[in-house]
Parts: sequence; structure tokens; C-alpha cells
Amino acid sequence: MIHAISNVELESYLDEALPQERMAEIENAFRDDPKLGERFAEIVSKRDAGVHTLGSIWRRNRLSCPSREKLGSYLLKVLDPDETEYINFHLETIGCRYCNASLGDLGQQHEAADAKERESRRTKYFQSSAGYLSVDD
Ligand SMILES: [Zn+2]
Repeated sequence: MIHAISNVELESYLDEALPQERMAEIENAFRDDPKLGERFAEIVSKRDAGVHTLGSIWRRNRLSCPSREKLGSYLLKVLDPDETEYINFHLETIGCRYCNASLGDLGQQHEAADAKERESRRTKYFQSSAGYLSVDD
């Protein structure tokens, strides 16, 4: 089911700043809805004329993206509720592709670090048991 496509989304589409799925949905919608194409053409022509909405400038420069450190803290759930809410909004409602990719990447690093930590605990445990054994010997 296609949700109504707002001008903001069309701008994001132009910036290729939407999630892949939504990009595809909008591409399909162009085929079914000539009106949508007209709206899009209008946005493009405004762009060409140098008229940029504040929103498009923001998206283009990614000013609203949280830093990678913030995303890391978000992942660890150590942000305050306001920041968490903002990042939720940014990731889910805006569907920022860069940050979603970044978060996926951080998640993998995080898991790898976890596994490494478990591994080193295990090694320490065996080393200390080995140590005890050699003392007992
Ligand atoms: Zn972002």
C-alpha cells in the first residue's frame, strides 16, 4: 500500500535521502500518478532556479544527523529521553539512510566487541586456572 507522498518526501527523493524501499515505492507511484510527476517536476524546476527550502538544505548538508558517538550511545541506550526520541524520529520517521546504515555498522562493531570481550574473559579464566594448576604442581 502506498502512503500519500508529501512534497517533503519528494524533496528527499530528489536528494536520494529516503530508505531504499520508499525510493522504490515513489518510483512506482510516478508511473501510476501523473499528478505526482507534475509535483515532482515543479520541485525540480524550483531547485534548478535556485529556490531551496530550508528542509532541503538541511537534508542536503545532513545538519540534522546525530554524530556517530551519539548513535553509539543510542545503541547502548544511555542517552537521555529527549535525545533518544530525536534519534528515533530521525531514524524511523525521517528514515535517514546514512544514520540507519551507520547504526547497523555500529551494531556489528558492538557485537564483535562483545564477542571479543567474552573471549578474553574466557582466556583469562583458563590462564588463571592454568596458573593455579602450575602452582599446585
Ligand atoms: Zn541522519
